[in-house]
Amino acid sequence: MFERRETRQIHVGKVPVGGNAPISVQSMTITKTADVEGTLQQIYALAAAGCDIVRCTCNEAAAAEGLAQIVPRSPIPIIADIHHQYKMALAAMEAGVQGLRLNPGNIRRPEHIKAVASEARDRNVPIRIGVNGGSLDPALYDKWGGIRPEALVESALQELAYFQEVDFDLVKISVKASNVPLMVEAYRQLSEATNVPLHLGVTEAGPPPAGLIKATAGISTLLLEGIGDTIRYSLTADPVEEARAGRQLLEALGLRERKNVDLIACPSCGRAEIDVIDVAKRAMEAFGDRKIPLQVAVMGCVVNGPGEAREADIGIAAGNKRGHLFVKGRNVAVVPESEMVEALVEWAEYIHEHGTEAAISRVDTALAEREAAKDRAQLLDERGDDANHSHDRIVEIRKTVGS
Ligand code: SF4
Repeated sequence: MFERRETRQIHVGKVPVGGNAPISVQSMTITKTADVEGTLQQIYALAAAGCDIVRCTCNEAAAAEGLAQIVPRSPIPIIADIHHQYKMALAAMEAGVQGLRLNPGNIRRPEHIKAVASEARDRNVPIRIGVNGGSLDPALYDKWGGIRPEALVESALQELAYFQEVDFDLVKISVKASNVPLMVEAYRQLSEATNVPLHLGVTEAGPPPAGLIKATAGISTLLLEGIGDTIRYSLTADPVEEARAGRQLLEALGLRERKNVDLIACPSCGRAEIDVIDVAKRAMEAFGDRKIPLQVAVMGCVVNGPGEAREADIGIAAGNKRGHLFVKGRNVAVVPESEMVEALVEWAEYIHEHGTEAAISRVDTALAEREAAKDRAQLLDERGDDANHSHDRIVEIRKTVGS
């Protein structure tokens, strides 16, 4: 559907970034890096949620020491986030990190930048040039009259030039800003100027849902133009949410294979027999990070649910205090309403393991269909076929438009 822009490939640990590598998901721990066990716990949770590469702050010696203990036990590559002290970059490399992030706005002395790049070159450690609108080099701010896309790009290219002076090219770049159109334009300009792999993000996007929307707007616009090799959602939230969001975005755009459940739920309406929001939430929790790459539907009523969600691999629809399970639109089982979520998970696991046909053939679908038809008929009988009072609205509309 869209062509990815050709970039040079680098590796962050075992994870390839750029070239034709799958777009990777990144996140960042929010623990103190010196808290080794707490940080590792968070890293494991992030990896389970689909994070490929994780960043940890390295802002003090104790953090670098923590990294030395964390790196060998981490299931995914670690990038040390460096801001003001170039010596922390050297310490992090000593700790064995698989990558660094340098902020050109915060480490500005060329000799410091080149010292880090030389060491990274000798150790084969990639560096992300992480330009950030909020901490743009004041000289560039003045030159361009504010945080402009051109200023972000120039900051990145300046840093890149320092790296080139010492023959270092294991680089990726980000030019993040919290303003979406600004960030999009900066990445567009950058992708014209270099073939270095790009790390996409909207910085300080804020708490969900607004933060999710902002980040998705910026990141997906660029991905759909073929720009971007690795992404991070910067949310004011548990970082596990960032990793999930990144993963889900890539799956939704068809850029990564589906790994986890894609839960869809009806919006609920006058026909709903259950609290759809609550059941969907409980189902999401029950599936958690189980690696079941199926589409699962939670539908408020058996009258329309199985039909509306017939494309889902598996779904549940409520009716008469019972849950009607359906697979690819075919009714397969009836369970008490209180056991709906458990049944959904059990069936999803079975389908994942044995396939749709095997799941359907283990039950008498005619029996399940008869029960569903019975509940459907009873609900229609009790509530009529216009539970949402749509007809009354249509009458009003017609009066309004005079037809
Ligand atoms: S008709 Fe049934 S399945 Fe469709 S939105 Fe309403 S409650 Fe949900």
